[in-house]
Amino acid sequence: MKHKIYCEVCQVPFLYREEPEVGKVVVCTVCGAELKIQALEPDIKAVRFQQDPEREIRNRVENFARLRGYVFNEDKELVIEGMLDKNKLYGDFYCPCRFENIPEHVCPCLPTRQNEVRKLGHCY
Ligand SMILES: [Zn+2]
Repeated sequence: MKHKIYCEVCQVPFLYREEPEVGKVVVCTVCGAELKIQALEPDIKAVRFQQDPEREIRNRVENFARLRGYVFNEDKELVIEGMLDKNKLYGDFYCPCRFENIPEHVCPCLPTRQNEVRKLGHCY
């Protein structure tokens, strides 16, 4: 059975092929975010949940890289540090390489989710 779950991080629905259960942690197949299922009716509702920020962003980028078959370059730790700083200052994991802190720039940013890495050979 295929289920559609809306991801509140990347703001699009993704397909989920397992049996959904309240309390279960699922990974968005578009952005790699971990979400916890909160309700099954009328639609499956999954939300971000309280966890250590460093753990949250590391899991997200590692899930994303695994889903896309990407590897990290030598800037990984610098970028993660920058995102942790932005999360502290502005409340979300905005890309430290981009000036505007808008939802499209939450890591993995919209261009990266839309395959910019294939064109550039790396993320912005
Ligand atoms: Zn997502």
